[in-house]
Amino acid sequence: MTGTFFGNTDALRERYGKITPEILREIQEAAGAKNVVAGDPEALESYASDEAGIMFTSMPDAVVKAESAEQVAAVMKVASKYKIPVTPRGAGSGLAGAAVPLCGGIVLSLEKMNRILEIDPVNRVAVVEPGVVTNELCKAVAEQGFLYAGYPMSTETSFIGGNVATNAGGGKVIRYGNTRRHVLGLEVVLPTGTVLNLGGRIRKDTWGYSLMQLMVGSEGTLGIITRVIVNLEPKPGKTVNLLVAFPDLDSAVDSVAKVVRTGISVISCELMDKLSVNIAASHVNTVLPYQDRADAFLLIQIEGDSDERLEEGYEKVGTLCLENGALEVFVAESRTESGMIWNIRQNLAEAMRAHDPYCSLSGDMVVPLSTVPEMVEEIRKAGKERGIAVGILGHIADGNLHPIIFKPAGMEPMEWAEYAEAFYDDLTSVAIRLGGVGSGEHGIGYVKMPIFLHSKPAEEIEIMRGIKRSFDPDGILNPGKLLGS
Ligand SMILES: Cc1cc2nc3c(=O)[nH]c(=O)nc-3n(C[C@H](O)[C@H](O)[C@H](O)COP(=O)(O)OP(=O)(O)OC[C@H]3O[C@@H](n4cnc5c(N)ncnc54)[C@H](O)[C@@H]3O)c2cc1C
Repeated sequence: MTGTFFGNTDALRERYGKITPEILREIQEAAGAKNVVAGDPEALESYASDEAGIMFTSMPDAVVKAESAEQVAAVMKVASKYKIPVTPRGAGSGLAGAAVPLCGGIVLSLEKMNRILEIDPVNRVAVVEPGVVTNELCKAVAEQGFLYAGYPMSTETSFIGGNVATNAGGGKVIRYGNTRRHVLGLEVVLPTGTVLNLGGRIRKDTWGYSLMQLMVGSEGTLGIITRVIVNLEPKPGKTVNLLVAFPDLDSAVDSVAKVVRTGISVISCELMDKLSVNIAASHVNTVLPYQDRADAFLLIQIEGDSDERLEEGYEKVGTLCLENGALEVFVAESRTESGMIWNIRQNLAEAMRAHDPYCSLSGDMVVPLSTVPEMVEEIRKAGKERGIAVGILGHIADGNLHPIIFKPAGMEPMEWAEYAEAFYDDLTSVAIRLGGVGSGEHGIGYVKMPIFLHSKPAEEIEIMRGIKRSFDPDGILNPGKLLGS
């Protein structure tokens, strides 16, 4: 076995071909020699892990940085001929180990396919290559008066192709939905090298099964996304950010459904508990108002079509939170103040990693809003019972919680990797009991696979395996992820 991973992948590796010098030459012919990295461990190492953590690494044998769908198709034909495993890769910001080349072989990086091909104002779409950084697309369309509504907290690093492959969520789902809702068309290269064009510049399509929607959230197991047509929204009206400090987690959580029910247009509603805020604020060298007294914060962004409506909106939300026990409601008066608040939220994960390089960020359960208080209580209880420090944050209005856990001193990293996932498995079982699932946005990848397979009915898994076989009969695309093989 090459790399560090819990679970033995040797048997899985045995099923695949190895890249011989002759095969490498064919790959170089397919993609252009300058786009292929092999035999350079230092250069390959950056493709051996993602943000699931340093406990999950596995070296590729080669990295192909394709420049076009034609090159992707040509490489897939070679891989298919020799049964070489291929792991598609965006920015590697995923938190489920999904972009880690578990069986070695080829990492197919989309980083060079990073052009915004077109912004089409009449059809309100943008056509982009998969390696465009999410925020670059947001900025480009904003200049033309549009909004691309995908907004994972990793927006400054993740790629659009990765967002589609994971059905990314993030900070604006309560208002606009997750990535699935923003995808109108895809160009996809299948493992055999066949290219499909799915969907298009249209918003309605009952023209057979939606293979396009099947690709969304497929985590690189069905095909390689080489072009994306995304929906653009009109730019929102005026927005304001509120930071609401609560004396305890319960009153913060309890306020959320009430805020959502006001009918005011809430774009974001993010929860951060005391531990998370303390770590993040110190990381970015800031202190939030009431940080010493508050046990939890809600970061709420609301929208209004005029200054009066906006003021009405934040007055109503603020009053409601105060009536629900909030210590104070801060209205960000300027871009700087808004930036300061969001800076904390966006840097939470990085701050946690700086605090503890082994902290686990893969907790991602989602439950119906009505059961969020119970889920939060179960998370706290699980931490207390095991003596594990837990930070709780999440896209709370979506019922999506990210408990973040820290490695106890003295525990070996690999033991911790398994321990952390067992911790989340237990919480996933609770989420399922409450009517939810184990991942709202990060996906299954490798780290959530065992509990995923365990929790789904066998009939459902068998249908999924059938779908996988029809797209990828030899199982060369991202083996060992999602369904396992
Ligand atoms: C600080 C931080 C904050 C985050 N916040 C959020 C958040 O708010 N919401 C959220 O949803 N996620 C979040 N994430 C997780 C991550 O950013 C998302 O899952 C993101 O969508 C991954 O994009 P990527 O380009 O990095 O993909 P990668 O990590 O490179 O890949 C992820 C998966 O997609 C597949 N893939 C990538 N590109 C393609 C392609 N072109 N064709 C086919 N398959 C492909 C890979 O094989 C892999 O299975 C966060 C991560 C970090 C580190």
